[in-house]
Amino acid sequence: MLTNAPRGTKDIYGSYMNTWKKLEGIVNDICENYGFKEIRTPIFEHTELFQRGVGETTDIVQKEMYSFMDKGERNITLKPEGTAGVVRAYLERKMYADAQPTKLFYLTPAFRYERPQAGRYRQFHQFGVELFGSDKPSADAEVISLAASLLKNLGITNVELHINSLGGPECRKKYNKTLKEFLAKNMDSLCPTCLERYEKNPLRILDCKNEKCKEVLKDAPLAKDELSDECKVHFEELLSLLDAMEIKYIVDPWIVRGLDYYTRTVFEFISNDIGAQGTVCGGGRYDKLIEECGGNATPAVGFGAGIERLIMTMEAVNGEQEYVPTRDIYVGAMGDNAKKTTFSLVNSLRDNNISSETDLMNRSVKAQMKYANKIGCKYSVIIGDNEIEENNVTVKNMETREQTDVKIDELVDFMKKEIGGKF
Ligand code: ATP
Ligand code: MG
Repeated sequence: MLTNAPRGTKDIYGSYMNTWKKLEGIVNDICENYGFKEIRTPIFEHTELFQRGVGETTDIVQKEMYSFMDKGERNITLKPEGTAGVVRAYLERKMYADAQPTKLFYLTPAFRYERPQAGRYRQFHQFGVELFGSDKPSADAEVISLAASLLKNLGITNVELHINSLGGPECRKKYNKTLKEFLAKNMDSLCPTCLERYEKNPLRILDCKNEKCKEVLKDAPLAKDELSDECKVHFEELLSLLDAMEIKYIVDPWIVRGLDYYTRTVFEFISNDIGAQGTVCGGGRYDKLIEECGGNATPAVGFGAGIERLIMTMEAVNGEQEYVPTRDIYVGAMGDNAKKTTFSLVNSLRDNNISSETDLMNRSVKAQMKYANKIGCKYSVIIGDNEIEENNVTVKNMETREQTDVKIDELVDFMKKEIGGKF
């Protein structure tokens, strides 16, 4: 137990961390370009927020949440997704009083009690954006274009954007009725989960992965046939903006998304590179969510993307990013006397943004050089009593083997010139 991490969790380090950091850098740059500001909300919230915000009928709330009573008898849940916390903060911090729209992004751990498998963990991470305050198709287009730009910049090109409109609350109500009428004739063939969904949220049956259910649903009526004129125009305007940006899409009437709160636009980016868990990013419009969470009616649109699945896709496309350690210089010590000098030198080098290492293991000079090589130092020096007395060291370029004599108190300046590019 002591040396086994809990099931469904992952340690992030080494080459995986390299890819992670690259991704994080790209996320930050793109959000900056698009004017989305970062928000970090707590890892845990009141359970009620997710019951309301994610929806009572969802798998997340019914089966997957990490909930517990804290010592003050409060019902607490580790966040299973990123949106609800951001909505709560938007309301509590009165961000609606700022110039609208409010554009936020988050990168957060999320927790779901699911059966772990490739691309499915109990602690995973989500990147997402939320745009509050605009019901216009241009807001949907902005959010989708950000997602498309992210995937492109991550080198994930083998993806398809599947997009659909569920219509507003009125259309959804009408469609629910038509769909239920259709399903009522096929109850014998539905799986037990779908029988439950039939009462609570029939739309979700379209999302079922069960083969028999899928067979039935082939002939089901579709949301697109029940859209009001207004919703149709909204969807068409969005598509025309995507066309204008040359973002390719597939109108896919089967995309409904798992969460209760979606209205009108829903979309998924689906990768062809990572097998069954192919959805790398999913989102849409949720004009009713903020009211549901206790605010004034406020339109909103956003998406969430699983970081681990993005990395899986990046690695499927580009291979694993090999972890190649590098340091600018190794400052070795010969004899105990030199220790103070090497420590003071390494300290100045680091102060000047030159990455450096010295001996922490009392190794022999030969072993120190071997180590310097192993950790990818670009330069090395060895300092002993002689060097200190003569105020002179020989700096070795580890790649070209070229050697240069430098005064000890000029080593920092020498390295600044050599490493130049960093400044
Ligand atoms: P799925 O159909 O794969 O269960 P979902 O509909 O539950 O996905 P969302 O709630 O929309 O997914 O979450 C957004 C994104 O978070 C997903 O597209 C996926 O990339 C990622 N994700 C969801 N659950 C997990 C998990 N358990 N482990 C890793 N990533 C996940
Ligand atoms: Mg899920």
